[in-house]
Amino acid sequence: ENFPGDFSNNPIQRNTPKVLFATVAPAGFSQPELIVFNKDLSEETGLGTPEKEDISFLAGSDLPENIRPYATAYAGHQFGSWAGQLGDGRAIFAGEIINNLGKRTEIQWKGAGATPYSRHADGRAVLRSSVREYLMSEAMHHLGILTTRALSLCFTGENVVRDMMYNGNPKEEKGAVMIRMAESFLRFGHFELISAQKEYKTLQDLTDFTIQNYFPQIISEGIQKYKEFFETVCRKTANLMVEWYRVGFVHGVMNTDNMSILGLTIDYGPYSMMDEYDLNFTPNTTDLPGRRYAFGKQGQIAQWNLWQLANALYPLIKDEKFLEDVLNNFGNHFWGAHDQMLCKKFGFEELLDGDEEFFTNWQGLMQELRLDYTLFFKQLEKTDIDSDLRFLFENVSYTQLDDESVNKLKDFIGKYNARLSVNSISKEESIELMKKSNPAFILRNYLLFECIEEIENGKTEMLDKLIMALKDPYQEIYPEFSGKRPSGYDGISGCSML
Ligand code: AMP
Ligand code: MG
Ligand code: MG
Repeated sequence: ENFPGDFSNNPIQRNTPKVLFATVAPAGFSQPELIVFNKDLSEETGLGTPEKEDISFLAGSDLPENIRPYATAYAGHQFGSWAGQLGDGRAIFAGEIINNLGKRTEIQWKGAGATPYSRHADGRAVLRSSVREYLMSEAMHHLGILTTRALSLCFTGENVVRDMMYNGNPKEEKGAVMIRMAESFLRFGHFELISAQKEYKTLQDLTDFTIQNYFPQIISEGIQKYKEFFETVCRKTANLMVEWYRVGFVHGVMNTDNMSILGLTIDYGPYSMMDEYDLNFTPNTTDLPGRRYAFGKQGQIAQWNLWQLANALYPLIKDEKFLEDVLNNFGNHFWGAHDQMLCKKFGFEELLDGDEEFFTNWQGLMQELRLDYTLFFKQLEKTDIDSDLRFLFENVSYTQLDDESVNKLKDFIGKYNARLSVNSISKEESIELMKKSNPAFILRNYLLFECIEEIENGKTEMLDKLIMALKDPYQEIYPEFSGKRPSGYDGISGCSML
């Protein structure tokens, strides 16, 4: 009822002190065109299936009278430095829906126009980045990884100017608007903003709200409640990182404003699935040469981000020793869960003495022979020591396998089989474990690239097929999507953060 942040008459105002949101109307597009709609998600959240005339709503036009759209303010640490106030620059909330099971879902347009937090940017999104977010968030969901979801994607009918390579060569691209959904879009950055503003009452209100709505298992009161909240966020964040490692997802821009307080994967920008195993791989061209957000660093960066959250929550917890202990324990929890995860990928029932050394050797082999992370495990499921390893792994490696490489592989398979033989579970059970842990289909960057090119040329055949494939990622549905990255594409995502 009370909208203190109503800046709708001044949509470029950036500074909204003491207030976490501002009401703002989407720009509205007169000729939107639906590209894809997620019927299953729509039914699940209680939105039902839209009629044709609802398309304008999906594009942020013709809003029902009873909704009052808004954008939120947050802050963040970007690439390790305090960036001050940011906010939903091109995301506008339509509101929240509660389904018949009582499950709440927040609904946002992304790319529907500028908000008070857009700074100098246009609040628009291009087709390229919107397709990338739509498909990858759905792919993550079906891989079993916590994430924001995608409901719909429309052409706006407008063109948007972007300099994709940051080389002073801006180009017009087709504009798009998507609807994305999550139980909550709250980020570390929301807590950082009000804490930095020393708005401790609002900080407490926000934290109480968050706990009450999204962490119902926390029933303590007072400071203990906030302590448990912080511990839970640390655990959820560590678990999310382990899941990213399981499938080879590299986020690419893990700034604290892109960290979900619920431990969801959020903000799909320059991300990429990893093709050849490489701890140093970063898909984000603006992350070179520092590689802060490289694959192998994601666990450590999550912990660094949690330090920033700890600082933000300090006024509620006021116990440095406690916060430090929780943060220092992050590594234990993370590595414990990480090694359990790797065990399953290899088909081991439990972690045994010597497994850590086995994993380290395996990492060296992967990196040295430039083996594809996903294909390696699929091949391992069906390889025995007497097979022709050169032949079997030729299509797994991004380099020519010489005799020395083949010997190294043979040595590794020998050790692997020895380790399997001390498993307490049967070979069949072990293979079952592997099949559940190792995807057969991942949404590789080159596939996205080709799909986007097709959509730009008015075709959606590949889009439809990718959507089928990503819904069942532990099966091989289309063999043509299951090979290694063809030559000619490198690992960089070809997608600026905008
Ligand atoms: P990101 O790197 O995607 O997390 O974006 C950093 C900040 O810039 C966020 O607050 C975004 O909302 C904002 N932003 C990114 N792209 C745009 C855009 N095209 N228009 C307005 N704001 C944007
Ligand atoms: Mg962001
Ligand atoms: Mg973004």
